[in-house]
Amino acid sequence: MTRTDLANIIFPNLEHDIDYYNAKYPKRNLTDEQYVTRFAPSPTGYMHIGNFFSALVDYIIAHNTNGIFYLRNEDTDKAREVSDAVEKIMNTLNYYHIKPQEYQAGDVIVGEYGPYIQSERKEIYHAFIKYLIEIGRAYPCFCTKDELDEKRLHQEKAKLRTGYYGGFAKCRQVDVDEAIERIKKGEPYVIRFRSKGIHEKKFIFDDLVKGKIELPENDQDIVIMKSDNLLPTYHFAHLVDDHLMHTTHVVRGEEWLSSVPVHIELFEAFGYEPPKYIHVPLIMKQDGDKKRKISKRKDPEASMSYYEELGYPPLAVIESLMTIINSDYEEWHTANPDKNFLDFTFRPDKMSPSGALYDLEKLNNISKDIISKMTKEKLYELSYNWAKKYSDSLKTLIERDKEYYMDILNIERVQDKPRKDIAYYSQIENLIWYMYDDLFTNNGSYSFKNINNINEIKLILNTYMDKYFDISNKDVWFQKIKDMCDELGYASNMKEYKKNPELFKGNVADVSTVLRICLTKESMTPDMYEIMHLLGKERVFNRYLDFIKGN
Ligand code: GLU
Repeated sequence: MTRTDLANIIFPNLEHDIDYYNAKYPKRNLTDEQYVTRFAPSPTGYMHIGNFFSALVDYIIAHNTNGIFYLRNEDTDKAREVSDAVEKIMNTLNYYHIKPQEYQAGDVIVGEYGPYIQSERKEIYHAFIKYLIEIGRAYPCFCTKDELDEKRLHQEKAKLRTGYYGGFAKCRQVDVDEAIERIKKGEPYVIRFRSKGIHEKKFIFDDLVKGKIELPENDQDIVIMKSDNLLPTYHFAHLVDDHLMHTTHVVRGEEWLSSVPVHIELFEAFGYEPPKYIHVPLIMKQDGDKKRKISKRKDPEASMSYYEELGYPPLAVIESLMTIINSDYEEWHTANPDKNFLDFTFRPDKMSPSGALYDLEKLNNISKDIISKMTKEKLYELSYNWAKKYSDSLKTLIERDKEYYMDILNIERVQDKPRKDIAYYSQIENLIWYMYDDLFTNNGSYSFKNINNINEIKLILNTYMDKYFDISNKDVWFQKIKDMCDELGYASNMKEYKKNPELFKGNVADVSTVLRICLTKESMTPDMYEIMHLLGKERVFNRYLDFIKGN
């Protein structure tokens, strides 16, 4: 019996061979300068910020080079699969306007190189595995789990490298006749790759981020097809897919770095050119005085759903990641404030090879800046869309009176230095609640600062309402408050106050704080003149009169 007989017994009903698939998926009609990248998540129902980081790099590379960015669903690990995970991944990419040019949604395949779901590519993988068996680079392995456990224990005890290699690769020795006989008897098996590597020899390759990397050659006979569902392992599936889909650049997390020798050995076994690899660093966070990996278990910000649920504008998250994707991004962005991140040319050598520090503080600043530049209409639209999904209370508030909501958002918006107090939409309600009379009445509490004597506060409010309230224009408004300070014995001029504080009961800032707290129950708000203007005289007076009555 020959290896071809063995291959035919293992795969008796294959319709096509690898030549067929190589012809079916010809080279793409692109130049060498147009790169093909892919985002290849496993559908585990959770998008880690590290996955998104890779997807963003993929997207920018394809965009920079006028190439192709496609989405591939790597669902060969059926045990870990979550049912609506693919939908979630698509939704997340959509939220960030990151659109793959090729993808598959259910039965709908967009692109010429599909299917893009690995579990639908079984036949294709089988053809490639069959070929490896025929050329002697793959073989069935009948070792049971117990046998493998025992081998590992023995290796550990003897302080040897663990794994299925060299003399430990028992089923390498099983000849074709015996293999066929055991298969015919129904003995379960997996298919392993037959490595030709020598561990003691160095393997050198060029990672576009990390530069030249030296690792030991691979000598492990890794499993390439599992026994239960006959699906390939990630290592093998990615080789076949990236080859047939003509991926030029594989962007993935650095946890895959140690697998590169086996991956390249797989490509070489077929005589195919491997793609270029870009291993992106782990995303780190500052934790006290230590830097550590952002962890799925400990850090909510590890999940991409965190940013969407809080209501960060997508661009803010993207921009904040861009600052760690390339060290010169911020400089470029400052020099080109009107350009989009997609206009930036990504350079893998400008990516930190050793861990990218992600900073939520920085994200907040970027986001505040982006939101501050939105028109009231835009912010209304985006925050309303967010509220429809995540906050019934904000949604209801907006729906009461859309124009009024926009007017509130517009306070200190249309000016040279607009307000920058909103980093994400879920903060909005907390910043505007007092602009609604019922919420003002039923929530919050008065907590005074320097002036806290109730009679003095009432005196200020009464005097203000009787003689000094004027919102006809901002200068007049403030002059009136100062005039009132002079009348009541507060310094209207801060310089004079600082010189001789003992001459005054307090100063104009203290008096303004009283007016502000009685108006909003907050000691910090955007411009009080604009607030009063929007509320109007009657509502301002009602609030002051209610305070006087109630205290
Ligand atoms: N499915 C793999 C993962 O989710 C993808 C790795 C790769 O991009 O090649 O980790």
